Formats: sequence, C-alpha cells, structure tokens
Amino acid sequence: MKLRLYNTLIRKKEEFRSLKKNKVGLYCCGPTVYNRAHIGNLRAYIFEDVLRRVLEMNAYEVKHVMNITDVGHLASDADEGEDKMILGAKREGKTVWEIAKFYEEEFNKDIKSLNIKPPTISCRVTEHIKEIIETIKKIEKNGYTYESDGNIYFDISKFKHYYNLSGHKPNDEETEARVDEDSAKRNKSDFVLWFTKSKFGNQDMQWDSPWGRGFPGWHVECSAMSIKYLGEQFDIHCGGIDHVNIHHTNEIAQSEASTGKHSWVKYWLHNEFLVMDKGKMAKSAGEFLTLTNLEKKGYNPLVYRYFCLGAHYRQQLKFSWEGLDGALNTYNRCKEKIIELKEKNEQFKETEYQEEKTEEYMASFTNAINDDLNTPQALAVMWSVLRDEEIDTREKLALLYRFDDFLGLGFRSYFRDKVDVPKEVKKIMAQREDARMHKDWQKADKLRDRISEAGFMVIDTDDGPKIEKGE
Ligand code: AMP
Ligand code: ZN
Repeated sequence: MKLRLYNTLIRKKEEFRSLKKNKVGLYCCGPTVYNRAHIGNLRAYIFEDVLRRVLEMNAYEVKHVMNITDVGHLASDADEGEDKMILGAKREGKTVWEIAKFYEEEFNKDIKSLNIKPPTISCRVTEHIKEIIETIKKIEKNGYTYESDGNIYFDISKFKHYYNLSGHKPNDEETEARVDEDSAKRNKSDFVLWFTKSKFGNQDMQWDSPWGRGFPGWHVECSAMSIKYLGEQFDIHCGGIDHVNIHHTNEIAQSEASTGKHSWVKYWLHNEFLVMDKGKMAKSAGEFLTLTNLEKKGYNPLVYRYFCLGAHYRQQLKFSWEGLDGALNTYNRCKEKIIELKEKNEQFKETEYQEEKTEEYMASFTNAINDDLNTPQALAVMWSVLRDEEIDTREKLALLYRFDDFLGLGFRSYFRDKVDVPKEVKKIMAQREDARMHKDWQKADKLRDRISEAGFMVIDTDDGPKIEKGE
C-alpha cells in the first residue's frame, strides 16, 4: 500500500507525493528549553520520529529540521503571560543562557533514550536572529505589518488565507478566545513579529534591528529557519494539535507573506494530546511528568515509547500508571521473545529472506503503518509474527528487525540483563538515588538494607550505582 497521511489542511487522508523525487523536507516544531520536556511533548517527538522512519522505509531521503527555542517567549501562544525563559531563570537562579544550554542538553538526552533519531538539522533561535530579521523585513516590504506602541505586528486582515489551516471563521470564539485583548492591535489575532517594548525590563536576550533593540516574537523563528533550511516550499510540517489555531496559522501567514508564494507547506500533520485525569498535560498547568520521573520509578524509556505506539497518533492518549504497567508487561514479553530468538540463532546475520509467509506479514505490516501511521495495527501484526510457531526462527528475527526500522523499539540491541532485577527492587534503587541526591544519608542506608533483604547488593561506582545478586 502506498503511503497515506492525514493532512490537517484538507481534513482527510491523502496519498503522500513528495515535491521532489525521493526527497522529503520535514519541519517539526521543537522545544522551548526553559524546563524539561514533559512526556506529553515527548509523545509529539515520538510520533514525528515514526513518521520520519516510515518515510525513510518508503525510500525517501528525509531532511528533518527542528528548532530549539532558546529565546524567551510568552507562556501563552497569544503574546501574553510570562516570559518562559525568564521564568526558568528565576526559578533556578541562573541566567537565561545557562537555562537554555542546560535544558537543551537534557532534551537531547531524552530524545536519545527514546531512540528518536536526531534531526538532520537542529537550529537554535539565538543563532538565527539575522535570518529572522530578514524575514520580518520581507513581510514589512510586502505590506503586512504595522508598528504600534514600540512593537511590530502582523496584520492578519491583509492575509486572505489566514483561517485556512484552522478552518475557523474570523472572530470565531474558539480561536479568538485565546487571544489577549491588546489595545495596540488592530485585529484581535494580530501577533508580534518584533518586540522592542517588553513588559519585562530585565530581558537579557536582546538584539539590534531596524525597528530598535529587542527580540523576535515566537512564531517567526519557525518561518525563518524552515525556509532557510528547506526552501520556500517544502513537504511536511508537524507539531501537536495545540499549534493548529495559532502557532501554525501564524507561521503560514508570515511565510507566505514573506515569499509571496501560496502553498508554503503541502502536508500538515498534528498529533493529539497525552492527557491526564485533569486534562492535557502541560507545563504551564504546573502538573507534568518527565521521562526522568518515569526512569526514577524504574521504567525503561522504551516502555514509554511502546505505550505511545499502542495508540494512534491522532487519538488522545490517557496516561495512567496502570496503563504504563500494561505497556511494561507487553514490552517485556516482546523483549523476552526476541532475546530467545537471538539465543537460538547466535550466528545470525541479517540477510534478505524472501519466504512467502514472511512476505505476507511484511505486507500486512506495511499496509498498517502506511495507512496514516497506524502503529496499534502494526504492533498487532508484530505480535502475530512473535506468536507464529511455523516461521523459521532466523526468518522471524529478520522480519522483526525490519519492523523495528519503522517502530524504533531497539530490537537489535536487546540482550538478557546480567542480573534480572525485579521492578520493586529497581524502585527502591531509584528512591535510594533520590535520597542520596538530597543528602539524606540515613534514608539512603535504610533503603540499601531493604535492597539487601530482597537478595541484591548495590555497588556505587563512578558511573552510578550498579546492582548485583547478593551473597
Ligand atoms: P512546546 O515545547 O510547548 O512547544 O511543545 C513541544 C511539542 O509538544 C509541540 O509539538 C506541542 O504541540 C506538543 N505538545 C504539548 N503538549 C502536549 C501533550 N500534552 N500531548 C502531546 N503533545 C503535546
Ligand atoms: Zn513552530
């Protein structure tokens, strides 16, 4: 089956056809590095990684670009709220530059442990101020801007396709309700391209520009950097569903206003939210879980990846610890089966297998994943293969490795743990680490005793604690 993707722009699935033969330009909105990414954000990056893998498996060469927002932008998409970077700096008593550097590194670690391929180009806003200014100059020259109260605004009334992506009508409550009343704006949904007047006097990050010293509005970075690396028209742009109404809508307006070309991006793909009991997981709501939180409770990051793949990316996914435990059990069973296959075939070399039976499975798998990335269905095919006793074990392994090129669960690196550590003991290990980090030595010692009682021994090394079977 040919690759079909759901395009938010036309609100239906359509066959994917790249603009250039065998090449795809893919832009994904990246993190604002003022805090750790939460596992909801990471769901977005897992989805984008699957998309990239699927494109590659469909023989496209993918140029994957992602921005790193290391310049302050306001807590809300609509130019209101607090500046995120200043918020982070205040919270941790560091400079905004230090905050950005630290959380960018943390983000890269999360990405790596989730087996997400690093983007071909990862671009920091602070290193592209020149391009951003050039983009704003073009928008200005083409007549889409006005200056008001010291800031440069985009005038949405000049851009006739403004509501194309969201499908909203002007003055639609749903879009406009999120937009702040700002007396300096001509239209409610106008947005800032360049700030010279910030409500935060202590803004550290500022640059000279034709409009005065200041800093860019949030949305313009994605237009400037995507065009720089992918050209004035490219194939796919992704992000979470929350970006449709404002951020991506504004990106389209800026990009098309600056280049004068319609159809900036051909396919728009958006993932649904990861939700908690109380609603969407969001940093601004103050209640969120990070990958580190999961790891501290003893979950391998790939269990979270498996958990995400169990739901279609356009369906909301409810996070619960029971749900994650379910994914853990299934992931462990899958891992055990793959390890058994490896043990049976120690001399196994990955070669092409053309047996009819596995080809049928491969076709079912591809049909599922090429149908708008139906990962739950693809996992179901994978399980049929794992359970099928009639396939030659080498062939099974070869097939599973091919599936994993799409899924990214890391099958090739599965080996039996030297020590099989029960989950309970892993949890106590994590609690002990936490106690040590907070210099609560008494608690740490008590937890060490509990680990010994369970029959294990902790050895603290330069690389962190190691666990072995007790005497
Ligand atoms: P941000 O750092 O807020 O710009 O978010 C990074 C990415 O995560 C964007 O693509 C967001 O749309 C996406 N995102 C934010 N919250 C969630 C959530 N709860 N579930 C899934 N994706 C999310
Ligand atoms: Zn963006």
